[in-house]
Amino acid sequence: MKDVNKPEVGSSEKKTRLIGIVQCDIAKERCSGLTCINSFDKRIDAFENYSTDIMAVPFNCGGGGGRRISRTVAHLARKAEQKAGIKKEEIVIHLSSCIVTDNGHYPPCPHLNNIMEILKRKDFRVRLGSYKSNTATKRREQGRYQPFDWDGEEL
Ligand code: SF4
Repeated sequence: MKDVNKPEVGSSEKKTRLIGIVQCDIAKERCSGLTCINSFDKRIDAFENYSTDIMAVPFNCGGGGGRRISRTVAHLARKAEQKAGIKKEEIVIHLSSCIVTDNGHYPPCPHLNNIMEILKRKDFRVRLGSYKSNTATKRREQGRYQPFDWDGEEL
């Protein structure tokens, strides 16, 4: 299985018009999701360098290893084209920090490779991360949490 922390470089030159943000169903039992959207609105953390004219669509993984993501991203791409004229290749799917980082909720999702495989089979552009927590950053610096590359290229 591919190591999702080792990105392939090469697709970052593509035009981006929509970001889908996949969030962990279990984290969302408590989390409103505001911090991800706040980071997107301010173009900080994992969303630096995106232009201001991009739409963001957050949605839950659906639990169960993230298998629902397959249907949700298919719907996202279909509606993006129908309603906004946005093509699939202009969409980047971000896997949120609650899925990909070692953090205050728990370690990274144990189904991360499976989720990546689902998205790659559907031929989506993928990036890792969303909101960058100060507490988790401090703990990463202290070596308590695994490191994370916030500047990772598209996978
Ligand atoms: S599959 Fe992963 S991201 Fe989805 S609810 Fe389970 S632990 Fe969270």
